[in-house]
Amino acid sequence: MCSKGVNPNPEDQHSCLYQCELCGTQERIPNDILEYFDVIDPGDPESPATFRCERCPGIMYPVSWFRA
Ligand SMILES: [Zn+2]
Repeated sequence: MCSKGVNPNPEDQHSCLYQCELCGTQERIPNDILEYFDVIDPGDPESPATFRCERCPGIMYPVSWFRA
């Protein structure tokens, strides 16, 4: 979902920028990983794949998710 015109960096369309909801740490997640998550967790199509922040107990969401 992140690669469809909402990626702030057109030069890097093979990953999606994620940001921690608590500490604001940003990390790029390769689309390969996101697709893998879609496979193992089809779930709610309105919910993006999320990751545990490495620096705090927060959850990392796509940056585009915050802007929605
Ligand atoms: Zn964090």
